[in-house]
Parts: sequence; C-alpha cells; structure tokens
Amino acid sequence: MLDIIQLLPDSVANQIAAGEVIQRPASVVKELMENSIDAKSTKIKVFIKDAGKSLIQVTDNGIGMSETDARMCFERHTTSKIKKANDLFVINTKGFRGEALASISSVSKITLKTKRKIDELGTLVEINGSEIIEQEIINCQNGGSFIVKNLFFNVPARRRFLKSNSTELRHIISEFQKLSLSHSDIEMSLYNNDNEIFLLKKSNLRERISLIFGRKTNQNILSIKTETSIIKIKGFLGKAESARKTYGEQFFFVNNRYMRHPYFHKAILLAYENILPPETFPTYFIYFEVDTNEIDINIHPTKTEIKFVNERAIFQIILAVVKEAMGKFNVLPPIDFDNEERLDIPYLPKFKKVQEPEIKIDPNYNPFRKEKNNKIDKINIENWQKLYENFEKEENIEIVKEPKNISFDIKEENEFLKKDGTKDFFDSNNFFQLKNKYILTQVKSGLMLINQKYAHQRILFDNFIKSLNTNSNTVQKSLFQQKIQLNSQDAILLKEILNDIKKLGFDISFIDKTNFLIKGTPSNIISVFKNIKNLDFKELIESLIENYKYNKKLDINIKENLAKSLAISSSIRNGDKLTKKEMSKIIDELFACKMPNFSPNGKKIIKIISLEELDKYFEKV
Ligand code: ADP
Ligand code: MG
Repeated sequence: MLDIIQLLPDSVANQIAAGEVIQRPASVVKELMENSIDAKSTKIKVFIKDAGKSLIQVTDNGIGMSETDARMCFERHTTSKIKKANDLFVINTKGFRGEALASISSVSKITLKTKRKIDELGTLVEINGSEIIEQEIINCQNGGSFIVKNLFFNVPARRRFLKSNSTELRHIISEFQKLSLSHSDIEMSLYNNDNEIFLLKKSNLRERISLIFGRKTNQNILSIKTETSIIKIKGFLGKAESARKTYGEQFFFVNNRYMRHPYFHKAILLAYENILPPETFPTYFIYFEVDTNEIDINIHPTKTEIKFVNERAIFQIILAVVKEAMGKFNVLPPIDFDNEERLDIPYLPKFKKVQEPEIKIDPNYNPFRKEKNNKIDKINIENWQKLYENFEKEENIEIVKEPKNISFDIKEENEFLKKDGTKDFFDSNNFFQLKNKYILTQVKSGLMLINQKYAHQRILFDNFIKSLNTNSNTVQKSLFQQKIQLNSQDAILLKEILNDIKKLGFDISFIDKTNFLIKGTPSNIISVFKNIKNLDFKELIESLIENYKYNKKLDINIKENLAKSLAISSSIRNGDKLTKKEMSKIIDELFACKMPNFSPNGKKIIKIISLEELDKYFEKV
C-alpha cells in the first residue's frame, strides 16, 4: 500500500492557521496594531477602506526591520519576541506566536515598507497569498507600514462570510478602542474612507476614555486604585446614577492587554447589585497588573482569554474594591419601595458573620470592611421584604373581598379569548393597581391580574408593526430638540437603521460623527402614558439600540426586530403609577390585540384566578 500522509505546503498550512487568528478585517487591524505597539511606536495610524474589505493600512514610527527581517517576518513561527519555551511564561509583548503576519499574508496581498533608524535606506516587500513577488530597497520613513489589500481574495468562502460594512467597521472600532485604552501613552488614529473616526493624542487614561466615549464620561467615572500582594488594580468605575441601558463600556485589562473574563465580570455585577437602576449595566475600565507567573495568556489563539492562578482570591478583591468605591462616594441603594414604607419596619435581624477569604493581602488595606456593611444591608432588606410579602397578601385578599358591584354589565365589546381558548369578559370600570406593577380587575370567571409592562409592550409592538407596514405613524413634535451623542459603534448602527426608525415615527437626523438630533418621537409611545418632558431621548435610543443588537443576534427580521426593540424600550415599566384612565386604556387596547396573552418576547401578560380557586382556598381551613 502507498503511504498517504503528506506534509502540507506552507501556503495551505498558513491558510489553515489564518482561520484561527484572522476572522475578519478587525483581526488584521488588531494584529498589525499590536505589532506596532510591540515595536515601541509612539504614533500609530490606521487607514481603512470599505471597512477594511478592500484596504487596511497601519503605519507606525517604531523600531522598524532590517532587510532580512522584513522578509522573514512573513514566515510561520518567526518572531523576535520569544526564543525558548520558557519565555512563554514571562510575556510582556502583545504578540509572541509568530503567526499573525504569516496568516495575514496567506489570505491577502501585502505591501510592507520599513526602515530602522540606523539604516539609510529601507525595504519594500510585496507578498501575494504567501508568495513573495517583490523585494527592493527604497527610500522611506523610519518605522513600519503594512498595507493589506483584498483580504480573503483567495478564500471565497471566508469573504462571503463577512458582514455589512457597518458591522465590520464596528468590529474594527471595537479592536481599536481596546488597544487605545491599553496604551494611552501612544498616539493613535483611525480613518475610514478618509473620514476621521478617532484622533487620540497621547494622554492620561481618564482623558483617553473621555476622548473615546464622549466628554460626559469624565464626570461619570470614579477612579479606583488598590495594591495587594498578588495583584495591583487601578481604573475607573461608572457611577451608579449614570449607568447606561447598553452594554459595551466594560473593559478588563491585564498588564495592558485587553481580556474577557466572565468570572471577574460577575464580581463586578455582584458589587453593583442593588445600587444600579433597573435594567442598566455598570461601566468599568479595570486594569490589573500582575506578575507574569500569575497568568497564562497562551490558552487562546487571539489571546483574549487569560487564566489566573488565584482567580477566587482576585474575585473577592474586585468585589471588595468596587463596593468600597461605591460606598465611599455615598451611592445609596435605590430600593424599590418608597421611604415611608421603609420607616414602618423597625425590624433589624441578626446576620451571619461574613467569612474573609483565605488570601494574603496587604495588611494596611482592609477591603472587607465595606463588604460587611453591605452584607448587613442586603440581609436586612431581604428580611423585611419577606415581612412585607405578608402585607401584600393581606392587601390582595381585601381587594378581592370588596368589589362593590359584584355583578357588572357584561358588554359585548369586553369579550376576550383566554389562553385556553375559552371566552371571558372583563369589567371596564373597576381597576386597582397593585404595587405599581399589576392591574387588577374582575372578569366574569374571577380575578384578572395583568402585568402592565408586558401588556404595554404587546400594544406598542402591534402598533409599530402596523406603522412599519403602512407608513402611518405620526410624529409627535417635541418642544425641545435634543442632541444626543452615542458611542461610535452605536452611531454606526443607528445610521444603518435610521430610515426605518423614521418610519416608526422618530424625527431624527444625523449631525456629524456620533451626534444626532431628535426633534420628535412616535406619538403612540407618549400618547397617554408618558409625559414628554420626562422622556429621556438618549436613554430611549440607547435602549432601543441595545435591544436591537440583542434581537439581531437571534436573527429576527429587521421590521419585527425594530418594532420589538422599540416596544420593549419605550413601554411603561413596573413601578410606573397609572391613573384609572390609563389602566382602562391599557386593558381596552390589550384586548384589541390579536395575541393579548403574550408579550412580543413571549412573556405571559395575564393571570386569571378563578372564583372556584378562591372559594376553595377559603374553604380549606
Ligand atoms: P509575533 O508578533 O507573534 O512575533 P508576527 O507575525 O505578528 O508575530 O510578527 C513577526 C515579527 O515581525 C515580529 O516578532 C516582529 O519582529 C516583526 N514585526 C512585525 N510588525 C512589525 C512592525 N510594525 N515593526 C517592527 N517589527 C515588526
Ligand atoms: Mg504580532
């Protein structure tokens, strides 16, 4: 039998490796910028065309390469950054695997121009799908300049896999942001089709964050700093009151390298628990500094997932630091219930002693002091919440016992179909709002509870779908125009869906860069329910975009996605007090919907407790 195993040609091996490291234009931007950082550059310029699909150019003023190195750098496993396996454990550079340039060159056409300070002339190398087609001596500036054209030209399947320009651009911006947040001492700029997206001069971290995310960010973040024997932590935390409805501004860095760390993210969420307004997310920029022995960077080809030796101890430290910072600045937990109710509860339960984790930390720093206090608050709240539940139950029963007109006129138009398909009729005169959350009314068969938020979402969703299909929504002009500034990714997405958003009834226009002007909103979101003065456009748009992004992942078609996103972000909330008239309107409109039983997200809207159930309950004793 013939032997069948063959060694793959380099070009094929490189293409296979490229599949791991180079997924899209943004990966090229990341790898090239990282190389520029490793080359000790103080200025890095990134030019792209068509979101990187036709051209990506990264130019730096770093150490440059010799003539031989300029050719060598495209070979697989060629790197100047490590020499032996042990070096892997003390990595201080961004790259070290020596495969980025080999991978990129196997799936694109690259031109490299580079010169070291000590050389009089520089080198030009041209590569086409792993093959060197040109090398010559040229006159050029110190540093390196890589031009990558026609990415994936020889891997059509990959090229087809690329998303729209705005999506690819968003990925590029995201990589650019992560790197510019890791190195505020380097000047970095980004241009797409000759439009400046970022021009970030060398600055301190706070300034850089504000330049990237908008001037307002500066007022909205608190700085933190702590040192323990295993880790140093510094950075910024968003204040609770400025928490946003969108994810995104959440960054961990370790030794100036961006990382994802779901476990540490949990620590932050836990620390913010009970102090953030509902449905908002904390902002954080946290920089860890650890001994390279404490981490393993090498577990992931793009090096964004990093393992720590002492994960559990660090979790506790993060938790303590964030709580400490939040406590220090007197951010009181906004509790769901109003103050009078709190004063009525003179009940102080005993609480369990909090155990300190077994870690060695700086003896002068006691991060757990605050932790204990917060724990008291939490247990306290939980306990009286339980106490309160009993009050609620009593209230509940009273309402059911006391309707004045037990028999009401059943009007034909008050007919509705229950989930089980049987008919029932509701009373359009008597409503009660329970905990600003449920609307209670009697139906022929018993007691009906309606979740106000989900009900309103259903009503709005049906309205928006109608508007999108018929272009019929009217714009409610606002008295005050409002300018909003979004982060770059959200701005790109909003531009993409601007026309459809207008169809929904927004009067909104693009000003420049990341700024938009809102002059009106869909009339049906403010109709009875919302006082236009209280409407925070920025919050509404951010929340709309966030929902839109989420639904997009679920592959929902654009019309339905928009209708759903807007319905969810603009509906009344649990906790909104409603007048009798508003409750009546919600119920009438809900039962005019085709599917009154479920919210657009499939949440149940209605619960009916039948008279039999109630009777049975009282007979049981
Ligand atoms: P790695 O970064 O893992 O070493 P790369 O394939 O990204 O592997 O780069 C290979 C080598 O090319 C680097 O180790 C470095 O010596 C050199 N190099 C790449 N880009 C630059 C640059 N912009 N300036 C100077 N040298 C560079
Ligand atoms: Mg590299």
